Amino acid sequence: MDSRILLQLAEKYGSPLYVYDTERIASQYTRITEAFTTVNSLQINYAVKALSNINILKYFKKLNSGLDTVSIQEVQLGLEAGFDPSKIIYTPNGVSLEEIENVAEKGVQINIDNLSILELFGQKHPEIPVCIRINPHIMAGGNSKISVGHIDSKFGISIHQVPHIKRVVENTGMRINGIHMHTGSDILDIDTFLRATEILFDVAKQFDNLEFIDFGSGFKVPYKEGDICTDIEQLGVQLSKRFNEFCREVGKEVTLMFEPGKFLVSEAGYFLAKVNVVKQTTSTVFAGIDSGFNHLIRPMMYDSYHQIENISNPTGRDRYYSVVGYICETDTFGSNRRISEISEGDILCFKNAGAYCFSMSSNYNSRYRPAEVMFYEGEDYLIRKRETFKDILNNQEHVEF
Ligand SMILES: *Cc1c(COP(=O)(O)O)cnc(C)c1O
Repeated sequence: MDSRILLQLAEKYGSPLYVYDTERIASQYTRITEAFTTVNSLQINYAVKALSNINILKYFKKLNSGLDTVSIQEVQLGLEAGFDPSKIIYTPNGVSLEEIENVAEKGVQINIDNLSILELFGQKHPEIPVCIRINPHIMAGGNSKISVGHIDSKFGISIHQVPHIKRVVENTGMRINGIHMHTGSDILDIDTFLRATEILFDVAKQFDNLEFIDFGSGFKVPYKEGDICTDIEQLGVQLSKRFNEFCREVGKEVTLMFEPGKFLVSEAGYFLAKVNVVKQTTSTVFAGIDSGFNHLIRPMMYDSYHQIENISNPTGRDRYYSVVGYICETDTFGSNRRISEISEGDILCFKNAGAYCFSMSSNYNSRYRPAEVMFYEGEDYLIRKRETFKDILNNQEHVEF
């Protein structure tokens, strides 16, 4: 997005501010669908947890996307956004049988990732088809917090337990209509990914009622120049070919699903914050902004890199800064960054702020969460108001004692 427009939006709506460019979401969505054009039946389910504003969900509905959800509240948001329940898949981990039943009652596709719930669910509701999340034990993911497919991961049912799954299916008479995996959040190596898909094909062909295979996500996007990222076009060529072979092998048209979050929204998001203080110490120049990890936790939580630009002074001389937040503990957005000379009052722009940024924000330090703006066909729309003191007190009870 043009940084002059971003600057205008920061002036209009104040800071800190999240801005989402829908055009960028659409182009990423199209990249995936075009990579898999030779597959007859393809469904992309946007992973709601990456960015869950209802207007973003409505935009995904416009694109004809489905939704991937991990909580009953995300399911409710999807329904509120107008999605048909049949276009929503629910992939929880470690939730109660009761929540799963409540979601199933809405007509949403259930994806089960442990044997005990599978058995209980099958005994009570053999008529409701379920998808099974398989752990193929393939290592993916750039960070131990987001790598979920390895041997001691809490996610999925191990491929070594497939005989057990089949026993449960036989005993309960339930139908398995989908096989799923989600191996982690950073697929770099297509060959590793394809190895995992082979394992999934092997499992999938053992279930007669199969309607879809969901290959999850973990597509990596570039955060800085020179970053390697998932070559979705190449994956499309190789996996489509293999998938079509699989359909011929099993003699029916199976739907290929993906559920990307980051890939679809990361680069569409910009986080704008104002510099409150430029502080020169003996070793470092700090730029302290009107925000903190309460608004964008990824650098502190995942060591993630977000490019930072000074959009108030794009043509200034580059200098080195550590950009820090106002939270009263270590709160660093970026150390030793080369940024165009910063003055107090300048607006800094953080890139890749679409995925897992606002959705992970909090009121820590009793700060307000930022406003969110959607940029759609040349117009800006306020899609979430900045919080006020009322929101901080919301649900707190004054007790007399
Ligand atoms: C988080 C999650 C995703 C999305 O992962 P990205 O790395 O954002 O693409 C997909 N599927 C499941 C089950 C998830 O938990």
